[in-house]
Amino acid sequence: MPDYDVIVVGAGNAALAAANSAHETGAKKVLVLEKANKNERGGNTFFSGGLLRIAFDDPRELEAMVPMAGDVIPGFFEDVLPYSKSDMWADLLRVTHNKTDRELSTILIDNSFETIKWAHEYGGIPMEPASTLSGIKVGNRIKWQKGAIIRAEHEGIGLSTNWFKTTEKNSIEIRYETGADDLLRNKDGGVTGVVVKGPDGLEEISSNAVVLACGGFEANAQWRSQYLAAPWDHAKVRGTAHNQGDGLRMALAIGALPWGQWSGKHSTPISNEWPDFADRGRTDKSNRLSYPYGVMINRNGYRFCDEGEDVGLYTYAKYGGEILKQPGSLAWQIFDQKTIHLLEPRYSTSEPIKADTLEELVELLEIDDKPQAVKTLHEYNENACDDEHFDPTKKDGLSTTRLSPNKTNWALRLDSPPFVAYSATGGITFTFGGLKVDEDARVIGTDWRPIPGLFCCGEMVGGLFHFNYPGGTGLVSGAVFGRIAGRSAAQYR
Ligand SMILES: Cc1cc2nc3c(=O)[nH]c(=O)nc-3n(C[C@H](O)[C@H](O)[C@H](O)COP(=O)(O)OP(=O)(O)OC[C@H]3O[C@@H](n4cnc5c(N)ncnc54)[C@H](O)[C@@H]3O)c2cc1C
Repeated sequence: MPDYDVIVVGAGNAALAAANSAHETGAKKVLVLEKANKNERGGNTFFSGGLLRIAFDDPRELEAMVPMAGDVIPGFFEDVLPYSKSDMWADLLRVTHNKTDRELSTILIDNSFETIKWAHEYGGIPMEPASTLSGIKVGNRIKWQKGAIIRAEHEGIGLSTNWFKTTEKNSIEIRYETGADDLLRNKDGGVTGVVVKGPDGLEEISSNAVVLACGGFEANAQWRSQYLAAPWDHAKVRGTAHNQGDGLRMALAIGALPWGQWSGKHSTPISNEWPDFADRGRTDKSNRLSYPYGVMINRNGYRFCDEGEDVGLYTYAKYGGEILKQPGSLAWQIFDQKTIHLLEPRYSTSEPIKADTLEELVELLEIDDKPQAVKTLHEYNENACDDEHFDPTKKDGLSTTRLSPNKTNWALRLDSPPFVAYSATGGITFTFGGLKVDEDARVIGTDWRPIPGLFCCGEMVGGLFHFNYPGGTGLVSGAVFGRIAGRSAAQYR
């Protein structure tokens, strides 16, 4: 008899969805292995904004997760727009340049609503409207971006805390400071357990099935330089320090098939004042995503991207990388008083640099070529628009015309002092490269056959994301494939 029915490696959203799903499916003995100690548990999930992108045809369907939304936010169910499966599909295709794995993204989209409802009902995760992330206040109503409408209450901290509560309530054993170090196999190549490194050293633990849910390699500087190349080795890490690629290493070593974009990653513009590894006290507050309402310049005094290409949730995951590539991996985001009220509340975690003229502002910034910076800002102003048709709630087409790159929406002149500047660098969130899994979350080997007894979910699944990512999809992917992996592992014989 194996020691456990199912061992789940990791303790983030995907892992705890898997563990609870295995329990629900009938697995009697489920073990969760968490490499971190109890104070640092929960992976990137703990740091996340808790935003959940799901498909629904009628906003009233959201009542299942946020029954009070209409009372808390007047007009909520009238103002939210439907986000059909084909809308979600179109977004995923567009931002991944048609590279998303068709089979996996269909599973993700088709199960998104039901799984998040399950996480709410069975997983015990309270949810709320994500008004500060995807809503823009217009008068006393809110204009919502499509799809990413709800989030876990108290964001990632709430999501993680409530998953742990449910896991404990379901009497699922959790071992902290116990990282999986190797996979055990039988003569047929099937996985029969794990070798762990815990407080008492190495130990072999057997199980009927193993679910790998221990994140990507975003916190591992060597792997970052190997797969993502410079300058990713010195990127600041936005989440946990524990996702070092352990699960990928173990699985590849027994012949798992690498899948997806191994040079791809999710990164975001974050404050350059943040430490190299994220701070658990401030979790997701490092983001600097309101650049569509301003301009960004680098240390050489140049703009380097179309700040207004799209709303932040569709460009932030690639612009972190753009900023990291700039000299010194630094950019300055500059706003004036016409748009300052549109900055996300997270900007309040930094003190902006302020001045009454653009020249004085540039003088105060860490910029090597200050005359060029002033020239860039004036050239931008000469090409920018007045605010008559400015509309922050949609792509308004207010574009510069003769700049390279142009700013193609929300290109208002910077002419209302005081001007303010916030620093930004690129912070890495998670890596896109992973393992190939099938519709049952079974890990596929390099012989294109499932590796018996091995399942995988969360960031470790490869193929869904390439180049870019629609905000709020990572947690939903973790929950969808976690639920499937747990069910499949519990049923595995
Ligand atoms: C700052 C930030 C904000 C984000 N905001 C959002 C958001 O709003 N919406 C969204 O959808 N996504 C968001 N994301 C992305 C999202 O958090 C991740 O995609 C998701 O949490 C990944 O879940 P996971 O379970 O795969 O991995 P994780 O939550 O990272 O969990 C991995 C677990 O594995 C453990 N582990 C690692 N190695 C081992 C080992 N050898 N043995 C045992 N355990 C191990 C870790 O300690 C951890 O518990 C955000 C991420 C960050 C960092």
